Formats: sequence, C-alpha cells, structure tokens
Amino acid sequence: MSPQPLLEKPEPEAHLVQFYEADEHVLTQNVGRYLLEGLKLDEGLLVIAIKEHADAFIRELERCGTDPDAAVRNKRALFLDAEETLDRCMTGDQPDWRRFEHVIGTALLEVRSREDHLGCRAYGELVALLWKRGQFSAAIQLEEFWNKLLESGNFRLFCGYPIDVFGPEFRADSVNALLCAHTHVVPAGLDSDLESAVGRAMDDVLGAEILNVRSEMRTSFQPIAWATVPAAEAAILWIGNHVPAKADAVAARARTYYHGEKRFRALVENSADAISLIDAEGNVLYASPSTTSILGYGPRELVGCNWLRVVHAEDGDIMGRTLEDVLATPRRTVHWQARLIHKSDRCCWGEGTTTNLLDDPDVRAIVSNYRDITDRKHLEEENEKRAQELARSNAELQDFAYVAAHDLREPLRTVAAYTQLLKIAQSDEERGQCADIIIGGVTRMATLLDDLLSLTQLEFDNSREAVELHRVVHQAFKNLEQAVKESGATLAIDPLPVVQARESYLIEVFQNLISNAIKYRSVAPIEIRVTSEAWEREWLIKVSDSGIGIAPKYHDQIFGLFKRLHGRNVPGTGLGLAICRKIVEGMGGKIWVDSKPGMGSTFCFTIPRDMTTDGSELGAQSKD
Ligand code: ADP
Repeated sequence: MSPQPLLEKPEPEAHLVQFYEADEHVLTQNVGRYLLEGLKLDEGLLVIAIKEHADAFIRELERCGTDPDAAVRNKRALFLDAEETLDRCMTGDQPDWRRFEHVIGTALLEVRSREDHLGCRAYGELVALLWKRGQFSAAIQLEEFWNKLLESGNFRLFCGYPIDVFGPEFRADSVNALLCAHTHVVPAGLDSDLESAVGRAMDDVLGAEILNVRSEMRTSFQPIAWATVPAAEAAILWIGNHVPAKADAVAARARTYYHGEKRFRALVENSADAISLIDAEGNVLYASPSTTSILGYGPRELVGCNWLRVVHAEDGDIMGRTLEDVLATPRRTVHWQARLIHKSDRCCWGEGTTTNLLDDPDVRAIVSNYRDITDRKHLEEENEKRAQELARSNAELQDFAYVAAHDLREPLRTVAAYTQLLKIAQSDEERGQCADIIIGGVTRMATLLDDLLSLTQLEFDNSREAVELHRVVHQAFKNLEQAVKESGATLAIDPLPVVQARESYLIEVFQNLISNAIKYRSVAPIEIRVTSEAWEREWLIKVSDSGIGIAPKYHDQIFGLFKRLHGRNVPGTGLGLAICRKIVEGMGGKIWVDSKPGMGSTFCFTIPRDMTTDGSELGAQSKD
C-alpha cells in the first residue's frame, strides 16, 4: 500500500491527531496537558467536543490546579458541543466551507479577541463524528477545511479520533488519508507502555522473523504520510503494510499486553507503598507516585539519581550492604529498615523489601517497595522506654521494700524489747527510761515513714517552669534557719542560671545538701559554696562544704536507700541523698560526690539545658 496524500501539507506542528479508542483516559490526559499549556501561555482555547469528553477535560484541568470556569468567564476559553456545531457547519451530508468558516472563525475570534492573547489552541471532534458515522470522505474534506483555516494562522489544532490503534480500521487506507491531513500523531498510549506492548507482541508473534523485520523496518521505513508518527503506531502500520498476514495477531497480542500493563501500572500507581525500579548501580529508573507522599520528591525527580541519595548518612553503609546482598542473590527478597531523608531534609523511617529481577527480561531492574513507618517507630521507641522505665521502677520497688522492711524493723525491735522491759520494770525511774526509749523508737519510725512517703510521692510529669536557681538556694537556706543559726554556717552563692525545672523539687535538693553540709561538719567553721558551670547541653551545679568529707569507697553507696555512714548521734534516716538522686535523675541529670575524708565534700549534679532550635537557650543567667 503506498501513501496517498490527499491534501495540501499542513503547517508544521500545527495539526495534531490522537486515535483514542484503545484508551480514552490517554485522550483526557493529553488534551488536558495541551489545554493547560495554552492557559499557561495565555492563549485562547476553543474546545469542540461531545459533552462527556468536555466534562472529562474540565475535570483534568481542575485536577492540574487551574480553574477552567474562570477561563470561560474571562472569555479565554469556549466550549462548544460537537454535534450541534457540526450541524451548523454542514449543508445536507456535506461540510460547507462558508458555514464552517463562519462558525469556527467566529468562535476563534471570540477567544482570541482580547489583546493580550498571543495565540489560540483548538481541540475538535467534528471530523471524528463524521468518521464514526462512516462518512469518511466528508471527514477528510472537513480536515481540509481545518487546514485551510490553519493557514490563515496563529492557532493550533488537536483532533481526537475514535479509532482503535489495535483494530483493523487503523490499518485501513482511510487512515493514511487522515495522517496526511495532520502534522503529528499524539501517542495513543501512556508513556512507553504502548511501545513496549507492541514490541513484545512483535517478538511473540513474529518469532524468528523478528530480526529481519526489525532491520527492514529500520531501513525501509518510509514515512507513511507527512505526520510524525510515534514508534508504536508506526510499527503497527508498518506490519499492516509489510506482514499483513500477521498484523491482526500482533495487534491483538499488543492490546492484551497494553491493557495488562495498564492494570499493573494502576496497581503500582495507586498503592500506598512507594515502588522503585533501580539498576545494578543503584540508580533509580522509575519511582511510583507514592514516592511524593513518603519522600516529597515528584516521581520523575528521582529518576537518574542514586537511591542512596535519599538514605540517611548513618544508614548509608547498611543500605549499601543491602544492595550488595540483593545483587548477589537474584530473586531473593531482602527486607530492610533505614532512615530516609525527605526532600525537606526531615528524617523519616522507611521499611521495605527489595528483589533483584535484573535477570528477568521483562523487568531488568531491582524492584524495591517501601513505606513510611516513622509513627510506628516512634511508638516502638516510646514503648521500649516505658518498658525500661517499668523494669527500673519494679527493681527499685523491690529494693525499696526490702530496705524499708529491714530499716523499719530495727526501731520496731527496740520498741518491742523496751515494752517488755516496761512490763517488769520495778521503779518509776526504770519505767521512765523505758518509756523514753520507746518514744524515741516510735519517733524515729515516724520520721522514717515521713521520709519514705516523700520519696515515693516524687512524681515526674515533665512539667517545667523557668526557675531562678539563685532564689531557690536562698529559699532552702531560709528553710534551715534554725540549724544555720546554731551552727554559724556561712553561704556563698556564685552567679547561678535560670533553668527549666520544678522549683519545689530543686528546693528539696538544695535543702538536703545544705542540711547535710551542716550536719556532717568538722570542728572548722562551716563554709558552704554553691557554684555553676555551663556545659554544652547541661548545667553543672556544685554544693561544696568544709566538713568531715567522705571516703571514696562510700561515694556511690550514700545515694542508696537508708545508706548512712553515721550512728544515732547524728539525726537522719539515710533517705536525703536518695531523694536528691531521684529528683535529679527524674529531670534527666546525674548526681555524684567528690570528697576525701577531712577535705570537705563537693556534691555535683547536672540539669539539662533546654535548647531552642536556633541553638539559644530558654531562660537566662540570673543575677547574683
Ligand atoms: P542522712 O543524712 O539522713 O543520714 P543522707 O542520705 O542525706 O542521709 O546521707 C547519707 C549519708 O551520707 C549520711 O549518713 C552521711 O554519712 C553521708 N553524708 C551526706 N552528706 C555528707 C556531707 N556533706 N559530708 C559528709 N558526709 C555526708
């Protein structure tokens, strides 16, 4: 079959055609894109379509973020019904040039009359209607009218034809005439799906012949018409002309593959998981639309980039090894978890599976699908923290119950023993002594119970306020007024910071440390000094005294429950430092002591500094 040009050659790139019967969705996408470009270029739009198509185009334009209604209101766009407009362009069964010129010319004038309009784009289905009715020559004539109008300039035309590229009508002579009337054929399939479906179908149907056919196609392929025809459509037409006996089988197989591919693509593109195809070097060949919701990148933005680019630097090695593992074991699915970097630089947790299908001729890629598990990861971390906290507090409770029982029993034994003695006491004096000892035991038990209660009642709800440490130390010193007066202790306070904490807890800490400094004094005058140092992420607070000091082997023990280094002659329950430790650790800090016997003691503890995102600290240094 030789091409039979029927018409004058149209202007280059001015007259596009798409055969859409095999996939109407592609028509909507392509016309949507064509009209959108026009709107962006401030061109006028004339759309002559059946209602169903016009509605689909409007929805597509809206989906792309434009407002077609506003364009209509501003007279930038005009939508005409195809049936009605065709009637107005015909006289009987034939298109009438004068009517056509009047109807279409007026409509074009309407959308391009505004001065700022640079050009105009038309989309038309008038000819398609004639084609559908089988009025082929009338259709070709109408195309001729359009080309005549195109010559008068400054507009483009896109025609949609309900022709099935897989059907026999696509290989009929009349299609040649149509191609001659256009400058470009817009692909009838999505991306490269149609091309790969036709390629696979040719391989299957032509078998051993395929090599010959391909080389012949390359050397003897003459443009069938003037139009630039995409590879898939050109191959179908070529087979129709040169291997007609197999043309139907190739087209039928190609249809099956194309729709299979489309279904598969629909699955991939509508999956919540992101799916990527990667080559052996780790370069992204394809990224599905869900990539945007997980990593913020548009699917095409990642194509050509190395996959490791979106992996957190600290997980780069693990993911590099995962890729090596995948490469070494084709078809085995490897599971992974790693931190990924979102386009906005935020870090998120990804979990996925990767399979090496490089040796599968239909895939030839490493397939990776993954999802965002950041929320789940945070929940797991939270649960882990809670479990640790629970284990710690259980252990503490056991410890506590054991020690408490042990220490409470001791005054109880005293009370029991002296009550027995009281029963057999002979004199008032003996009875008085017993009663005093019993009262002492009971008082000691009461003090122990009070201290235990204050230890167990410490609850950390993480509520914090700005606390001026300087004021807190003064308050603690004031609470100990009597002991301070009696001992003649002096207090020196260096400049102290404002910290984020619970004020009442900090008063308790200083009160315990200062009262210990007074209790465990030596014969030398008592000097207490409170100082602070700013560390990178915390404050170091020191309470030093000039007292008796503590041997290094007791430095850890004294923070335990009821741990005392002194006898009854010095009052105390051995709970003061345990309370301090619980408060400090509850705030996220640490507490310890530096001391040597006879050299005084320095109790140190840290309070985390609350940093703002710009690195400055909440609160400020308070004045002395
Ligand atoms: P308490 O003072 O009621 O005995 P603490 O828990 O406050 O209990 O202290 C535990 C032990 O640590 C004390 O019994 C004491 O022996 C020792 N200690 C605490 N503070 C000092 C200090 N500033 N100087 C010397 N020893 C101290």
